[in-house]
Amino acid sequence: MIYDLLLSGANVIDPSQGINAIKDVALSDGIIAAVEDKIDPNQARQRIDLNGRILTPGWVDIHAHVYAGATTWGIKADAHCLATGVTTIVDAGSPGWATFIGFKEFIADPARTQTLAFVHISGIGLAYGPIGEMEDLRYGDPERTACVIQNWSDICVGVKVRQAQFQVGSNGIEPLILANRSAELVGVPVMVHIGAGVPLPDVLNQMRNGDIVTHCYQGHGDLVTDQDDKVLPEVWEAQKRGVLFDVGHGGGSFNFEVARNSLANGFCADVISTDIHANSVHRTVNSLADAGSKLMSLGLSLTEVVERTTTAAATAIGREKEIGTLRLGTVADLAAFEITEGEFVYYDCHRQENQGTQKIEPVLTVRAGTPYRPEDVHEELMETLRRAKEMSALSGRNFEHFGWSPDTGGRPR
Ligand SMILES: [Zn+2]
Repeated sequence: MIYDLLLSGANVIDPSQGINAIKDVALSDGIIAAVEDKIDPNQARQRIDLNGRILTPGWVDIHAHVYAGATTWGIKADAHCLATGVTTIVDAGSPGWATFIGFKEFIADPARTQTLAFVHISGIGLAYGPIGEMEDLRYGDPERTACVIQNWSDICVGVKVRQAQFQVGSNGIEPLILANRSAELVGVPVMVHIGAGVPLPDVLNQMRNGDIVTHCYQGHGDLVTDQDDKVLPEVWEAQKRGVLFDVGHGGGSFNFEVARNSLANGFCADVISTDIHANSVHRTVNSLADAGSKLMSLGLSLTEVVERTTTAAATAIGREKEIGTLRLGTVADLAAFEITEGEFVYYDCHRQENQGTQKIEPVLTVRAGTPYRPEDVHEELMETLRRAKEMSALSGRNFEHFGWSPDTGGRPR
């Protein structure tokens, strides 16, 4: 026996190597050992016949919130990833420098999924959703943030900042300037959340080659398009000089109309991510495959979606040599999907509909050589959703969820 696991007869799509063909893939010691037209099944201890299903590098979700129990957004994401083809998940700013070590110890280290983070320029990170984390600039600390990123560079991929009115109050682009200073100290990108209340050209003007705009198809104001539905010249200019644009679907940041207008102009997101969190996972976007299916309903091909969830996503966080690829010798992170044909209605965050004819359904996730089927982690997944709904209810002041009311102190009226 030379292989631990053989995945046979799959339609392999690996944009990093330009592969789109029926192939067998063999794994040994947690790494990719062979990708060939035909591999002798007698050479492998275990075999999974994928019978024409789509097999890709493990998907990389560069915007999610997984600091469960310590932030208002965090979900227990590990099982969710293993059920949906995601082998690397990146928390977008839930930990700040002051809460990072807890993130490492309680979330990243124990996870089976590779769990990385953008560290928030606000030292408190996203602990407390109801108040903007950079309304007070004293929370922003470039040196402490950079020190954490440098010291735990195995986990930290960049700096996060949210640049809409709600998060920054009257501070305009000052938080972004602090984030840039921090990122420059350690040579990492900045991921910038955009939204209403801070002019987008002012934000883009501060962004450097390799920095990432997230929520690029958000519909709240200060959009990537103007009143005539044309993509802003500043957006074109930024993309041309190497600023990346990421979907970051989330609970409120994906709008079909903005996406459709952008795509009609030829402006396409470079990366697709979920922004999955306690208030989105059970409501607006249930997985990266779901976000990818929505982009397919807008006209992207399956290969274009896979490119944006594997090689482009890995490149955005500087990990393209290690993940998002099926190159021999890299970690055996893979995802298999069934593409279901039919009539599907997809919803954005504003309950606008879009019709699609295809749906990406995860069937198998392989993380560092270990295979997981969605049913293997079903119980954990139910717990993830239960906990997400609990935090969502608390954040939304839905006290009924807990059978309690501030009027009655919990006693029947
Ligand atoms: Zn987010």
